[in-house]
Amino acid sequence: MTTAHRLTFDVQLSDHARTPEERERVLANPGFGRHFTDHMIVIEWTEGRGWHDARLVPYQPLTLDPATSVFHYGQELFEGLKAYRQANGSIVMFRPYANAARFNSSARRMAMPELPEDVFVESLELLVQTDKEWVPTTEGHSLYLRPFMIATEVGLGVNHPSKSYKYIVIASPAASYFAGGIKPVTVWLSKEYTRAAPGGTGFAKCGGNYGAAFVAQQQAVENGCDQVVWLDAFEHRWVEEMGGMNLFFVFGDRLVTPALTGTLLPGVTRDSLLKLAGDLGYLAEEGKISVDLWRAGCESGELTEVFACGTAAVITPVGAVKDETGGWTIGDGTPGPVTMRLREELVGIQYGTRPDTRDWVHKV
Ligand code: PMP
Repeated sequence: MTTAHRLTFDVQLSDHARTPEERERVLANPGFGRHFTDHMIVIEWTEGRGWHDARLVPYQPLTLDPATSVFHYGQELFEGLKAYRQANGSIVMFRPYANAARFNSSARRMAMPELPEDVFVESLELLVQTDKEWVPTTEGHSLYLRPFMIATEVGLGVNHPSKSYKYIVIASPAASYFAGGIKPVTVWLSKEYTRAAPGGTGFAKCGGNYGAAFVAQQQAVENGCDQVVWLDAFEHRWVEEMGGMNLFFVFGDRLVTPALTGTLLPGVTRDSLLKLAGDLGYLAEEGKISVDLWRAGCESGELTEVFACGTAAVITPVGAVKDETGGWTIGDGTPGPVTMRLREELVGIQYGTRPDTRDWVHKV
């Protein structure tokens, strides 16, 4: 048993956990989000009572009434972060309090209850500690953590938020995103669809944002691209973010990332790179990047590199851009030196081969 904020986690260990051999078979080729560890966290919230019944239980299906609110009105949110096995064998999470803060920011927008940050972090620690054998030792692999919250009130009334919720954490071993080496992506500028508008949910990590994005991602693939890039809702002129990652534009030793206008997700990787780039002597700032500037900068050679960043792949170089009028390449289309340097530094901090001067890694 372990306590946080007066919440005590009841611990029920699985009696059908995978054998070491079964686990090793999964860890030899984990992919992403396909396999889950032996346990999960559940905490209940009920109006008038707050958070209660915190527990670690065997990984198992949920049984929910078909009239449960989340199935109809999508009151749901989630987070994503990773636990890494460091060079010295210890296990760390990267900036879990930043994810806790974003979880609560999403909760406020979705009229859902906030979870105390230390309960959020303790729930992750408890799951990772219990399932620590699932934290891969292979270089570049990690344990992806997926905390989420769903509305559980039963009934179809649509005039009020749910009066009960479940917070759940599951964990999934993840291979390196770039198993065959770092490969630049080609991106599709989406002018038919928009992801978010002012006053909407763009800054929140709620499922609806992702459900509404698949059609644009499909269109990107149909046009021979890897990823969709979202533009502003009014003019389709200002760059916001890539499918599940934020974007950085490199002008020599000056880096610019689209400012947090409320319509894009405030990535933890984005925030980390803004700080890290400054530490490394680059000028890193938030600003506005138009599609015209993107194209003109590549043509003149002033815009030297573009990369996307996020928990899943850390940093992905962007090699080329397409829209319905044609397209252009960035530099010579191969990963640039600034992109690769930042990637190496950040990955080094996560895996413990570079000093963690900002206290970003949180030992489990
Ligand atoms: N934008 C979107 C839409 C995302 O889903 C993600 C992944 N959470 C990001 C950006 C990057 O955020 P982070 O660096 O926190 O993973």
